[in-house]
Amino acid sequence: MAALPAGMLASTASVAAPIDTAGRIDLHTHSHCSDGTLAPAALVELAVARSVGLLALTDHDTIAGCEQAHQACRELGIRFVAGVELSCRWHEHILHIVGLNIDPRQPQLASHCQRLSGLRRSRIEHIARRLSDAGLPGVRLAAPALNAPSPTRTHLARELCAQGFASSVPQAFERYLKHGGTEEADTPWPELSVAVECIVRAGGVAVLAHPHRYGLTAGGLRELAGQFRAAGGSAIEVSLAGMGAAAAARAAALARRFELAGSIGSDFHEPGVPWRALGRFAKLPDAITPITACLGL
Ligand code: AMP
Ligand code: MN
Ligand code: MN
Ligand code: MN
Repeated sequence: MAALPAGMLASTASVAAPIDTAGRIDLHTHSHCSDGTLAPAALVELAVARSVGLLALTDHDTIAGCEQAHQACRELGIRFVAGVELSCRWHEHILHIVGLNIDPRQPQLASHCQRLSGLRRSRIEHIARRLSDAGLPGVRLAAPALNAPSPTRTHLARELCAQGFASSVPQAFERYLKHGGTEEADTPWPELSVAVECIVRAGGVAVLAHPHRYGLTAGGLRELAGQFRAAGGSAIEVSLAGMGAAAAARAAALARRFELAGSIGSDFHEPGVPWRALGRFAKLPDAITPITACLGL
């Protein structure tokens, strides 16, 4: 199905196109409601252009974009999965749990996200003070983050680039924003079990996001996967854009061992990043229960 021009979205608000389920699946994406750059409707238009037929919006700690994305999916005839990517703590690690098929209007999920937005705000202020102490204009650098519904370090990284303190977002992270600052120790992120419970109570399926990015040993990953499963988690990301073959094989082994379904996605944030393109990643390996089974699809 061809994408409608952007301007047609508003004028076709009441027209639902037939659902196209034959396309690709992408169950991990971000909009400008967190640290993506596209509005939810623009994200959906790009998904349609990339032949994605089943799309989840999974912004960091906010469900603010779900309604707009859902509406755009209805208009453009692709299937939408309401989602969120909740930050939480497990031992000294900050983890991300993707929730799929959540009810974005469920009050406890909404208040959980509101609380996280407050935590994120204090954390960004804390980082801004640290940057000021290091001689940088911390307040000015933090302004775009503090104006966002879900303030993230990515906002700070982009501003560090815009103001000439780094030449790329990864460089800004490397120089100024890597985890381990006192602001992380001071941020009372909810425990893993709380994040999982929050997703499950909102009717969703909890997915352990990008297991390869936490710097855990094989034993640490097994301990995590076991505890995640025991807390009510159902799936693990096995095929993600930019995930190497070895990391994908480790995730697949965890999926089999702990009877978790395998989820797939790009973790798309913005156009023009070839290794994290919307709808583009390796196929889910055989012998893994596909996440679609948990979503009733
Ligand atoms: P936060 O949730 O505020 O800690 O921000 C985490 C987000 O920053 C992640 O979701 C990524 O989008 C981005 N990020 C983290 N580390 C890096 C990095 N080294 N280079 C580029 N982006 C990063
Ligand atoms: Mn992000
Ligand atoms: Mn993440
Ligand atoms: Mn993500």
